[in-house]
Amino acid sequence: MFVWTEPWIEDNGMRAPWRKNTIFDVCLRVKDLIDPSTGLWDLDALEEHFFPQDINRIQSIKPVRDHKDYHVWKHNKSGEYSVKSGYWLASLSINSQALKDVEAQPSLNGLKAEVWSIQTAPKIKIFLWKVLSGALPVANLLRRRGIEGDELCRVCGEAEETINHILFTCTYARQIWALSDYPSPNSGFQNGSVFSNVYHLLTNRNNLRWPADTKSKIHEEVDDWFQAQIKDSGENLETLSPSLNKTTTEDGELLVKDSGENPETLSPSLNQTTTEDGELLVSWSRPQESWVKCNVGCSWSKGKLIAGGAWIVRNDEGIVLMHSRRAFSNTRDKDEGVFRVLEWAMESMLSHRFINVIFAIQDKTLVGAVNRPKAWPSFRFQSMELRRILGRISGWCLEHELEQANRGAGLIAQSITRDLRMQSYVAVSYPQWLSLVFEEETSLSFVI
Ligand SMILES: [Zn+2]
Repeated sequence: MFVWTEPWIEDNGMRAPWRKNTIFDVCLRVKDLIDPSTGLWDLDALEEHFFPQDINRIQSIKPVRDHKDYHVWKHNKSGEYSVKSGYWLASLSINSQALKDVEAQPSLNGLKAEVWSIQTAPKIKIFLWKVLSGALPVANLLRRRGIEGDELCRVCGEAEETINHILFTCTYARQIWALSDYPSPNSGFQNGSVFSNVYHLLTNRNNLRWPADTKSKIHEEVDDWFQAQIKDSGENLETLSPSLNKTTTEDGELLVKDSGENPETLSPSLNQTTTEDGELLVSWSRPQESWVKCNVGCSWSKGKLIAGGAWIVRNDEGIVLMHSRRAFSNTRDKDEGVFRVLEWAMESMLSHRFINVIFAIQDKTLVGAVNRPKAWPSFRFQSMELRRILGRISGWCLEHELEQANRGAGLIAQSITRDLRMQSYVAVSYPQWLSLVFEEETSLSFVI
């Protein structure tokens, strides 16, 4: 990559840097600006060649060592091109009237018409119509209308609560779909929109190529699912007939019981159990014999640009061996915070000489980047740095942990950004103020 003739700086689009000196070397390459001993930008070289604004832009690019130059698609987070983001980019360049035409596409009207022809209770038809019209009180739509509130899904706490999320992509919804045996779209429900997913359900409900028992089950279970959603979305149940109300409750409980009896259909690393109310609990699970599990918690304060990190190490009996806390100042965004915290946790495990370590963290991005670096080119710097540390630990595994199973580490990390407890420490066992949380996490891990 040539410094002066190729566009490599991000400034509302890509461009070559501005030239500070009138005499310059046309053949200067970007790699000549990187100090080979540290792998970081050579600050003296940057100051010699560039204006301060460009130096800032250059420093926000993390040089990747030991790897040939590669292309990154800058319009989505992973850096890998996707049709969706390409479409988004293309739609930016056409005028807004054309965009409105796309939004009012006739296929959606056909889909709504289809809803009215289903043989089912009027309540369900209305619910489906609201789904397609964006007329359910989910957090992201409420916020768009100026009603403040938490934007995250109240079931999993991980993603923005949208109609598509609560019905199709939420971890809980996906388990229900998996249990229903309803064949999912070829690309999975999680990659579709609410429209494509409802379209899939409607067009395949009479699919003759599917086995008959699946089809009969589909009608019951899809009905149950939408009934449960009606309940969840705060609709008035009393307007339903009493008999309908009763079957909903019973079947709803049956569905949840199924999920306890078929653990092989669920992710094996999760400990799941149901309460008497049919509520699904996800608890912390122990590592296998001779391994330890390091739960990593992270928080970030936008106002103070501080990241808080915490790790907790437990053995295969669920006993807390150590925990630690550290603040990271000058952290520009949440992604950087998670990266610094995870890097620190990995180095800590190395320095405390743990041999077989499962790292468990709520952030899915770095779990994806470390386990599948090719699919996350934008995060190649992070994945290579983390893998460099992991290469020195004899057994390692990096996995995603749900919030409910990561509460202890999460709360310690939050004590930094929320209560400004800035001093770092390492200690044995767990902090006394969290004893209840840890006793509960450990005891739940023994339930199954
Ligand atoms: Zn969710």
